[in-house]
Amino acid sequence: MADQENRIVATDLCYAYPEAAANAVDGVRMRVKRGEFLAILGHNGSGKSTLAKLLNALYVPTRGSVLVCGLDTRDDELVFDIRQHAGMVFQNPDNQIVATVVEEDVAFGLENNGVPPAQIRERIDEALRAVNMTDFAKKAPHMLSGGQKQRVAIAGIIAMRPDVLILDESTAMLDPSGRREVMQTVHRLNEEEGISVVLITHYMSEAATADYVLVMDEGKIALTGTPREVFSQVERVRALGLDVPPMTDLAHTLRAQGVPIAPDVLTVDEMVEEICRLSLKT
Ligand code: ADP
Ligand code: MG
Repeated sequence: MADQENRIVATDLCYAYPEAAANAVDGVRMRVKRGEFLAILGHNGSGKSTLAKLLNALYVPTRGSVLVCGLDTRDDELVFDIRQHAGMVFQNPDNQIVATVVEEDVAFGLENNGVPPAQIRERIDEALRAVNMTDFAKKAPHMLSGGQKQRVAIAGIIAMRPDVLILDESTAMLDPSGRREVMQTVHRLNEEEGISVVLITHYMSEAATADYVLVMDEGKIALTGTPREVFSQVERVRALGLDVPPMTDLAHTLRAQGVPIAPDVLTVDEMVEEICRLSLKT
């Protein structure tokens, strides 16, 4: 009965906190297919974390619905299954690690979710390999860097063999190398294992690597498209309280100075290509 193609389907999704005047998530319609990588952006308070919790069945919609691999989050009896299909990584690595040894931490979810003991060893090894943390299996989590801790948190979820990985600003507390480690891990899981990714981030450079971007504002989807489609609307993105990726910003500034550079440059490589193209012309 699980829908393997459509991993997340949200229809007219709304959520209001008790006694709040307005919906924190307000009429969201979205779909994440197998192997897709979606980035969610939006200024503080725009509803991203509330949406993430709805996608993971931590919250039940006050209106509309979310299907995770075809399973309706409104059905209490499916919550357990849904959390195995869609795992969530949060912002603070220290709040997610519960055990005093890395491999025990990865085992924790497996034990709680009734995975047969005979399979647990294999699942731990597989998950630690997937996040490139095999050498740290016997280490104490408090000895690890922030990026390593987040990779352990991701391993705990990967061990459940999920179809969707939801990350809510999971790189926000990391230094640049920790962020890079986590992003590489997430991209590898997405590309090689076909795990769908929903990445909530305030780093535009991370969003630029997604297949699609969704920008939230006041609980609604204000803008959506490929990173190129979204970020080329520089003024619109800024009006929503966000930056554009650094190279898009540079291209925009150069265009304002009369340089006929493409308006949808996203990466350093693309900028180099544009500059070469322009200098060949003169
Ligand atoms: P974001 O993750 O984009 O910063 P949130 O989903 O956390 O946004 O918040 C969306 C809106 O819901 C905000 O107006 C916020 O104040 C409100 N909100 C978030 N959590 C709660 C809560 N536990 N109780 C009441 N209101 C909340
Ligand atoms: Mg948030």
